[in-house]
Amino acid sequence: MQITGIQQTTLVDYPWKVASIVFTAGCQFRCPFCYNPQAVLPELIARYRSQQIPEEAIFNFLKQRVGLIDWVSICGWEPTVQPDLYDFAEKVKKMWFCVKLDTNGRDFEIVKKMVEDWILDYVAVDLKWPLSNYEKRTWVSEFWDFLENYKALLDYLKTWVVDYEYRSTLIKWFHEKEDLEEMWMYLQWIKARYLQNYLPEETLDPNFVGEPFTWVELQELKNIANKYVEFCSVRW
Ligand code: SF4
Repeated sequence: MQITGIQQTTLVDYPWKVASIVFTAGCQFRCPFCYNPQAVLPELIARYRSQQIPEEAIFNFLKQRVGLIDWVSICGWEPTVQPDLYDFAEKVKKMWFCVKLDTNGRDFEIVKKMVEDWILDYVAVDLKWPLSNYEKRTWVSEFWDFLENYKALLDYLKTWVVDYEYRSTLIKWFHEKEDLEEMWMYLQWIKARYLQNYLPEETLDPNFVGEPFTWVELQELKNIANKYVEFCSVRW
């Protein structure tokens, strides 16, 4: 696995549980607002390769954390681009940690296999934008293949074979009211949705224009989204 970093402890990633987050390199999207181009663009990944963390160091760290943390999140940029994701997650699971996968919905089959093999305990999927406009807004490569995978994963998760959530990072000026309505409609009947705020930093597209919503604005958006799902909350 190409691992770009680890957050040793968080209480936010999985509610009420202590987790560590492992960040992997690479992503098939090119979202203009992406705040870590070094972990997404192949030429930059290659340039910073020497700074990646060897798997062995991750497992040594996790060994010391047995009994102290409950969950390990495998998070992107987009972990399913890593060919050895399954093996890595299986090793983590064998250490008796609960395993969470964060994905943009790129590879339905690998997620399904990991769920069916009892490796994954939780799946978090991004919805960045109305799917009708994903290709243009996120510059995704192989769009139709992505769309097929995304829809298959949604249908699968809706059967509740594993605990899951959908989450959206919202950006003022980028997400218009109509876009949000379309996003909420698309994910009707899902179990849980989280809204996250945009943190303006270095962006993949240096000319990207967007701002965070205020707390009050996010609460208003949450109230609207709440009409469509069982549970909606803001991660601040
Ligand atoms: S999906 Fe996430 S990691 Fe990939 S380009 Fe978009 S914001 Fe960046």
